[in-house]
Amino acid sequence: MATDRLLEVNALDSRYGALQALFAVDLRVAEGETVAIVGANGAGKSTLLKSIMGLIANRADQIRLRGQPIGDLPAYRIALLGVTLVPEGRRLFPSLSVEENLLLGGRMKRPGTWSLGAVYTLFPALRERRYHRAQALSGGQRQMAAFGRALMANPCLLLIDEASLGLAPLVVKDLYAALPRIRAAGTSLVVVEQDLTQALGISDRVYCLQEGRVALHGRPAEFSRAALSQAYFGAA
Ligand code: ATP
Repeated sequence: MATDRLLEVNALDSRYGALQALFAVDLRVAEGETVAIVGANGAGKSTLLKSIMGLIANRADQIRLRGQPIGDLPAYRIALLGVTLVPEGRRLFPSLSVEENLLLGGRMKRPGTWSLGAVYTLFPALRERRYHRAQALSGGQRQMAAFGRALMANPCLLLIDEASLGLAPLVVKDLYAALPRIRAAGTSLVVVEQDLTQALGISDRVYCLQEGRVALHGRPAEFSRAALSQAYFGAA
């Protein structure tokens, strides 16, 4: 079934055992969109990404990719369908080289435009350090390697969890400058970001989570900064 609706999350109630972390969350990502998810610590942003990625099991029809129910699939099946995650904290293999880390991301061999060469063109600093161990990289370079590893799977949807965490503003600017190029290559983006200015700057639409619920969503131009702060922080 052809659809411009790449991802649909329907009334998602994700749990960690007895603890319910998400409550009836609805989310849509169209083909070619960049969607930002914002919210305070503990709002449920990572839980939402983990649910989409199959790291938390849900009901099949609560998450659909191009119309196909995927909510109950394990992570490796979801990755094979073209969803990859840049996890919070990068999670590279520190003793492997940059290139080995990238090649691990490409081992599923999904067809597409991303290759070692394409990743090195996107992030020239990685080409220069291709034989360096990941542990020798700066924080920003590690994040580039984590992006590159996820891209090597040729995803249709890339989930990015707090890429800017712990990085200097100029480094974040460089990193986020890559997002339009990633999207132009045919990959839609879901970006979890605590920094509202960054989130509004990079996204077509924003969802704000508060205590596991969608408190506000829409295009950045559709709501005031005050309304977004209210949705982010809750009642004063
Ligand atoms: P942060 O910005 O701090 O990463 P977040 O918005 O990503 O926050 P989540 O990490 O999704 O929030 O957490 C949502 C809720 O789920 C919180 O109450 C958190 O304590 C709880 N939680 C997260 N991970 C687990 C886990 N592995 N086991 C139990 N509860 C968890």
